[in-house]
Amino acid sequence: MYKNGPACSPLNPFYPAAAFTRDQRGCSVRDHADSKRAVSVASAGGQQFIVHTDTTRARVMAAEWGYSPTNGPDVWARLFPQAGGARQSPVDICTSIASSDSNLEMKKLTFAYESQSDLRILNTGHGWKVEAPQSGSRLEGGPLGEDIYQLEQFHCHWGETSAEGSEHTVDGRAYAGELHLVHWNTTKYQSFAEAAQHPDGLAVLGVFFDVGNESNDEIEKIVSTLSEIKFKGQFTDIPDVIDPTTFLPSGLGYWTYLGSLTTPPCNECVIWIVYKEPITVTEEQLVQFRCLSACSGEAEEFIVKNYRPPQPLGNRALRECNAA
Ligand SMILES: [Zn+2]
Repeated sequence: MYKNGPACSPLNPFYPAAAFTRDQRGCSVRDHADSKRAVSVASAGGQQFIVHTDTTRARVMAAEWGYSPTNGPDVWARLFPQAGGARQSPVDICTSIASSDSNLEMKKLTFAYESQSDLRILNTGHGWKVEAPQSGSRLEGGPLGEDIYQLEQFHCHWGETSAEGSEHTVDGRAYAGELHLVHWNTTKYQSFAEAAQHPDGLAVLGVFFDVGNESNDEIEKIVSTLSEIKFKGQFTDIPDVIDPTTFLPSGLGYWTYLGSLTTPPCNECVIWIVYKEPITVTEEQLVQFRCLSACSGEAEEFIVKNYRPPQPLGNRALRECNAA
């Protein structure tokens, strides 16, 4: 997945890179003189890393989890047991088994967001993420019962080419990318972290990307900041006013099911709401996403692919709301 990246637009060059603080772990394999040192590095920062040892030198693969064959979705469950559970996301949305639910249409899903400037965007090493804690926002109705959810952050998933990139698929078809607006249940829980430990703790809106000629203006506000967060750990504030409402499609039909975070530790805490209608972005905007680096510097490892493939739906209910 991470490999020599695409040619970045000369109109939006990433070089010279802004100053950055190098992550001590870096992204490449580091050799250490003895295994004791390796163990201490592996436990630093309270995060879990994949530790390899051999007979002569201890090695720490500081890549943590990722999307490559050695640390990607196929091996996440070894370090994060919940990733092997029965309520995992994403899933393939098989439209023929989705059950229409009139309750969803009677109790309409509604949202109210604030327009904000100076939202912080950061390079997580797995993609970009915008921190948007909005105490005045509300997502409610539809599959959310009587509870009110509040926006916390949003981010995207994409692929090496625009023939892939979405996490959910529809009848086996992938879209070019998928935006996730992540909310937490403020009716029952005191914090995002607490909510993420409960089966009704989070609600995520998923919006598919189609590639077209029309540049998405709101996505462009994100793209315009990416040159400042090329490397993992970098962050900046988005000067433009962002209104999350403008990320949503005009068609309000959606599918919903009970699932999980799609990144480790893959907590099974998400009520998923995936919009049927995609929004349009340009190929150039996706190219700029793929120019982000998975590393804090040095290595040219681009985040060209950051989606988890579909997991088994099992016996979970898949419902749909056909609101226009
Ligand atoms: Zn996501």
